[in-house]
Amino acid sequence: MKVEKNPRKSLVVFYVVVLAVLLLANTFILPAIMEAGITEVDYGTFLRSLDQKDVRMVQVEKEYIYFVMGTEEEPQIFRTVPFADDSLVDRLYASGCAFGQVVEEEVSPFLSFLVSWVLPMVLFYFVGQMLMRKVMKGGSGGMPMMQFGKSNAKVYVPSATGIKFQDVAGEEEAKEALQEIVDFLHDPEKYRKIGAVMPKGALLVGPPGTGKTMLAKAVAGEANVPFFSISGSEFVEMFVGMGAAKVRDLFKQANEKAPCIVFIDEIDTIGKKRDGHGVGGNDEREQTLNQLLTEMDGFDGGKGVVILAATNRPETLDPALLRPGRFDRRIPVELPDQQGREAILAVHAKKVQLGSGIDLAAIARSTPGASGAELANIINEAALRAVRMGREKVCQGDLEESVEVVIAGYQKKNKVLSDKERAIVAYHEIGHALVAALQTDSAPVTKITIIPRTSGALGYTMQVEEEERNLMSKAEIENKIATLTAGRAAEEMVFGNVTTGAANDIEKATRLARAMITRYGMSDEFGMVMLETVQNQYLGGDASLACSGETAALVDRKVVETVKKQYERAKQLLKNHEAQLHRLSRHLYDKETITGEEFMSILQAEA
Ligand code: ADP
Repeated sequence: MKVEKNPRKSLVVFYVVVLAVLLLANTFILPAIMEAGITEVDYGTFLRSLDQKDVRMVQVEKEYIYFVMGTEEEPQIFRTVPFADDSLVDRLYASGCAFGQVVEEEVSPFLSFLVSWVLPMVLFYFVGQMLMRKVMKGGSGGMPMMQFGKSNAKVYVPSATGIKFQDVAGEEEAKEALQEIVDFLHDPEKYRKIGAVMPKGALLVGPPGTGKTMLAKAVAGEANVPFFSISGSEFVEMFVGMGAAKVRDLFKQANEKAPCIVFIDEIDTIGKKRDGHGVGGNDEREQTLNQLLTEMDGFDGGKGVVILAATNRPETLDPALLRPGRFDRRIPVELPDQQGREAILAVHAKKVQLGSGIDLAAIARSTPGASGAELANIINEAALRAVRMGREKVCQGDLEESVEVVIAGYQKKNKVLSDKERAIVAYHEIGHALVAALQTDSAPVTKITIIPRTSGALGYTMQVEEEERNLMSKAEIENKIATLTAGRAAEEMVFGNVTTGAANDIEKATRLARAMITRYGMSDEFGMVMLETVQNQYLGGDASLACSGETAALVDRKVVETVKKQYERAKQLLKNHEAQLHRLSRHLYDKETITGEEFMSILQAEA
């Protein structure tokens, strides 16, 4: 990217500032420094001091008479403006003071001019030249003050992206929707002939890390066109109008390079709904958005500039952005299903050395809800672990451990639990596992561990569904709540006391119970009535109440009732199998980690 704005202009500003500083320094600051320590008195005082023989030394100059009084150890320098006084010489002799150098000799005016004006100017000139050279050398390394209003869009050379659709695993629907755009970029004439207008923009919506950026790059790679990428937050500027200028500049660049792809990541940062209220408003953001809307209307869709944007908060976007002629195509990029996960793992596994007997399908099964980015991370973590272990190939164990790292954090080996705490955690985890196993339709337990993790978990029970679940019945949700409460139930039953260890379970159980009532219509009282709306569907899915205060109070009561009921059920189940609970907990306490098979064999042996 070359810097279009003339940097020489900025240099002129730089020199003017330097000149002003020098002027100020020479008129006010330097003289003040030089004259520090010299007291100015009137001529009368000087004569009186002379007559009283207080003056020890004097120096008569054209502009001032300098004289010294006080003791030798602590001389005080004074000066006064001379008068046309013929008697002065006599008086000086009469006082008996010495004649000598009181202040430094005045430097010659020429030398002083040289030092205080010319030398600094020359110095600053060279500094200026150096800065200038730096700016001219490269846009990105240049001084930011010279780049106001320039977009930071990076131009990618087509060969540099190199990403093709085949690199993006799964996401078949999204790829299909984007294929048309690729086709258009290949051969715009075909579309023009028939009179079809290509959509100017497409919005990729989905949770973070699902490959939206990758897909946009792949479109550019497939069509073999330049790829401009900029994040919405890069448009957010301190000064009103700067963001808008950046948008203008981006589109100017894109038009010059057409056909090309412009990718705006996190468009929600600039495309938020304009609400019209709010003190002071957010002029900068609105101006940026308006500019974006105007540019999208303004450019010729037939030219081959396609704008792709990504967001994980589509509900916050301004409707004006979504109307036909702007981002009228909405392409969902969802979290991968089991097959998708396996495919993504396979794509990334190609980059590492795999040992034999690797079962990626098993890993895919144990990672429901993981995004592409997380899966890529799992493969990388596994490779890192293999290196740590001094192996040359990644084995299944590495992959399994890295799934746990991604889910629960690293093992925290130096965290020492007391024996009592370890026993509590063991009972807690076995409580979960036992209740899960004793209920039908619960996902099988695959691993139980009481090794603390960096996420703060002191232990956990891993359950893996045998196959992908898309629906959950009421009974299954209730089972899940019972399983979640079972840790606490076991603690209470065995130790007669409860601990803080159940905080996470409580949160999950409450969420589930609440969702059953307010969103899934699974309560007799409210039936199929929506009592909550979900916000940020792709980012955690927080819900906000959509009912009256009284209903909310009823809902709260019902949530408490539901969780309590399941807690009692879990306790009952554990009571009925108390022997197994003790035996399994003892086993876990000793071994720290047990597999699902070990767990089942002990459970069944007892039964
Ligand atoms: P987003 O833009 O949706 O937040 P990215 O496209 O930046 O996500 O994806 C982040 C990383 O995750 C990619 O660099 C890639 O390694 C991995 N990834 C995500 N989805 C996929 C996929 N479908 N296939 C292969 N890799 C993927």
